[in-house]
Amino acid sequence: MKRIRLFLLLLCIPLWASAANSSYVRPTICPEPQSFEISDTVYHPLTRVSVRCADKTALEWAQTHLTAWYGDLAPKVVWGGKESSDMGEGAYELSAGKKEVAIKASTLQGIRYALYSLRQITIAQRGTLSVEGWIIPECTIQDHPDMAFRGVHICWFHETEPWEVERLIRLAAYYKMNYAVIESWGTFRSEIAPWYGWEDGTMTKEEVARLKAIADDLGITLIPQINVFGHATMSRGGAGKHAVLEFHPEYQTLFEPCGGWNWCLSSPAVRKLLPELIEERMDAFGNPPYFHIGGDEAHQPSCPDCIRQDYAQLFIDHIRAMHDVIAARGAKTMMWHDMLIDRADPRWEGFTHNGNDLTAKALLDFPRDIVICDWYYGEAKEAYPVADYFKSLGFPVLACPWNKSYKGTIAMSQNAHKAGLDGILVTLWHHYYGGRLQDSYFFASNIAWNAEASLSARSVGKGYGVSYRPFFHTHLRQIGWDMHTTDPRHTGIYYDELPPEPALSTVG
Ligand SMILES: [Zn+2]
Repeated sequence: MKRIRLFLLLLCIPLWASAANSSYVRPTICPEPQSFEISDTVYHPLTRVSVRCADKTALEWAQTHLTAWYGDLAPKVVWGGKESSDMGEGAYELSAGKKEVAIKASTLQGIRYALYSLRQITIAQRGTLSVEGWIIPECTIQDHPDMAFRGVHICWFHETEPWEVERLIRLAAYYKMNYAVIESWGTFRSEIAPWYGWEDGTMTKEEVARLKAIADDLGITLIPQINVFGHATMSRGGAGKHAVLEFHPEYQTLFEPCGGWNWCLSSPAVRKLLPELIEERMDAFGNPPYFHIGGDEAHQPSCPDCIRQDYAQLFIDHIRAMHDVIAARGAKTMMWHDMLIDRADPRWEGFTHNGNDLTAKALLDFPRDIVICDWYYGEAKEAYPVADYFKSLGFPVLACPWNKSYKGTIAMSQNAHKAGLDGILVTLWHHYYGGRLQDSYFFASNIAWNAEASLSARSVGKGYGVSYRPFFHTHLRQIGWDMHTTDPRHTGIYYDELPPEPALSTVG
């Protein structure tokens, strides 16, 4: 017995020693503020928040949201006066002391961001069975975004449920992103063309309106997307499905015969229909300032009418027509870049390039207000010549990483800031759960906000197995509280804790 005790004691020593020497796990704010001075041990009760802002509606916003987060124990919100200095869109300052937490910003957006930071470092008062108060470490924050456009691209697949889209939008806003592109994969329920997409799609106009109201309140603008060139199947290439043609073969005229992947660009019916669909979608999204037209990964034409014509010219005319419809509504067109550079051009070696010499030439005639979304999913590179090229031609350019490689996401986004690009649009595709969801949101939001973010949160408390992930999980949980989630499958980063059991036939 004595020997066992000794063994247990020996086992405990390293843990105890580690704890005694332990650097404490500092609160993490995502994205990392530009300046964040924090006391490790001095905490004060969160009882009063003073709001100073040029926009007085910020007071009500603060009151409403602090009450929603903290209920009966919410701090008292007081008006600190009108902030006259121009701190810039999204910039804010926060000072947490004994008497109060003082926040100031020129805009409501800045106040939102101050409160998102506050929420991330506020914890429950210690020592009681259940929450009886809130405490916050003594700290000062001075913060502003490095890039103006901080976006996330969200796919709404047939299997996607509205709560997932809502959670992704809320999370993006919480991480101080200000745009979310919503791409319908055959799920938008068009009223002017009910056959355009799956009949049981969940992206109804009512649902879009509900999500838009949430997004507007949280400070994130929703941007609709319709693919006007390739990806006309509205289904993942590998799935072999077509969201129109499976059940509506009568509309085969609108798509290229080879798989229906491209719209038939020479068809007058297509040229008439797509602007109507764009207008309908813009109405549903309440006249958004941007509209994404896709435009990536198109195939060669396969119908006799398109083959007979100059396809590059058709492509230019088509994109310009879509651009003009969007511009007439006062919005800017966004488009993926890859069809606009020549796949045979050695300058783009190692990057995404799906066009040819004709489409590359066509680019030179494009209206310069088209926002080019430069996507690249590989490892980190020393230089990003594709983005530089579009920028040199006078286009606004967004860097669009995907978390196939988080190091690639960081390098591409840091380059975007260095090269003076217009922002970041991180893509999720089908990874809106699991580790890639964590990494996409965490790294993209950090770098879009603070290009020099140390990302120390990833290894905070090194040696204790603590990474940024527990913080991410806490943030996701807070969003679950905001959504009044009751289904366990709607919590955490995976739907289920365990994978389904294999079928009996596979286990013998
Ligand atoms: Zn055709």
